[in-house]
Amino acid sequence: MRESHDLVIVGAGAAGNAVARWLEGVDALVIDRKREIGKPVECAGLISKRTLELFGFDRDSWFIQNEIYGAYIHSPKGKTYHIGGDRVHAYAIDRSGLERCMAEIARKKGVDYLLNTKVEEAYREGNKIVLRMKEREVETSIAIGADGIDSIIRRSFFQQEPEEVLFGIGVEVEGIDVDPGNVHVFFGNKLAPGFFAWIIPTDRNGKRGRAGLCRPSTISKNPRSMLHDLFNYPTTREYLEDAEVVEVMAGRIPLGYMKESVKDNLILIGDSAFQVKPLSGGGLYPIAEASKICSRVVLGALERRIFDNRILKRYHEGWSSKLKREILFGMLIRRKYLGMKDEDIEDMLSYLEREDVLEVINRYGDMDHPSRLVYPLARRMPILLSLLPKIIGFFL
Ligand SMILES: Cc1cc2nc3c(=O)[nH]c(=O)nc-3n(C[C@H](O)[C@H](O)[C@H](O)COP(=O)(O)OP(=O)(O)OC[C@H]3O[C@@H](n4cnc5c(N)ncnc54)[C@H](O)[C@@H]3O)c2cc1C
Repeated sequence: MRESHDLVIVGAGAAGNAVARWLEGVDALVIDRKREIGKPVECAGLISKRTLELFGFDRDSWFIQNEIYGAYIHSPKGKTYHIGGDRVHAYAIDRSGLERCMAEIARKKGVDYLLNTKVEEAYREGNKIVLRMKEREVETSIAIGADGIDSIIRRSFFQQEPEEVLFGIGVEVEGIDVDPGNVHVFFGNKLAPGFFAWIIPTDRNGKRGRAGLCRPSTISKNPRSMLHDLFNYPTTREYLEDAEVVEVMAGRIPLGYMKESVKDNLILIGDSAFQVKPLSGGGLYPIAEASKICSRVVLGALERRIFDNRILKRYHEGWSSKLKREILFGMLIRRKYLGMKDEDIEDMLSYLEREDVLEVINRYGDMDHPSRLVYPLARRMPILLSLLPKIIGFFL
């Protein structure tokens, strides 16, 4: 049986639902192999205020669990610094709830969902894309690959793979006792080489939270020993020793800049296009930006009945203008950070003792645009000066 739709989105994760929620009056189908939208969760659920607004929600949305004002930064040797604290910078959210909310809006606007159905093959036939599933086939004028890191749409039609892949584990915990308004970030090469561990309070009295860590997938151990490290590292232990684990999750995060995210009849978004902030592993802000641009371009293409690269490339240009600099900047800083020993990290973090550095961070700090900190900080942190020539290159 072959059916036909103007638009098919493969993947009802954050990216697929975010595009779908902005559609209106079009013949669109979202396909996902999952039985239930939002489950299982592979996310720590921390998003910036800006991200929430870009997704079209406000602070009263039911899936918001907690408000985050700042962060405690823990050095490898156990020094603790504090940044932020003055205003709400981020929210801890029920990630599954966010996805369900977006899908509900999309359904109300006439978008169809087909769950529990895996796309097994994708190929071009004339000016259509054909998606083959077990018992049916769908042809479409535009196929959007919102199907995550192992995207079948990317692998069938595009050449590029991520520059780097991180592997992360996370736990939902109860019985902790942390400051509810601040996240904890832990550095150290034995704990999270090339990245960091975290605790995010998810209720307003600091008794529940999500903890986790990421490592480059090339040096990640098995999840069980990563969990052991998370609970037993000297700096994390005191916050997690009474924790009761209620849920465990794991997932991969693709990093790099995707040079080509559209072709005739095809678009990639989210993890399938590596739209992730390299310094935090956050994919929801990039998705929030890209999904608005994507839906706008797709609605325009459907109205004009033109589905080729000439029109769809406006999406690639649009999201690149918002995200490319941060992705390239993040990869540059990341490469530098990967070579750092614990002593170097210790030295770098010790700048957080200085009032002038803290003042700059608190004034210009923006979790979605860390590059904005470089210029104001460079005069105060000589380590950043060595990066400036490369960074200037991106901005020219
Ligand atoms: C441990 C961890 C913690 C994280 N924490 C945060 C955080 O706090 N904040 C943040 O912003 N980001 C975080 N991220 C990143 C964020 O979760 C991802 O960037 C985001 O989930 C990407 O969404 P997506 O929709 O592109 O992909 P996915 O969420 O992977 O969705 C892809 C969907 O496509 C479906 N699919 C795939 N292949 C097929 C197929 N062949 N047929 C049908 N369906 C298919 C899948 O079932 C899935 O539903 C974290 C990631 C990890 C691993």
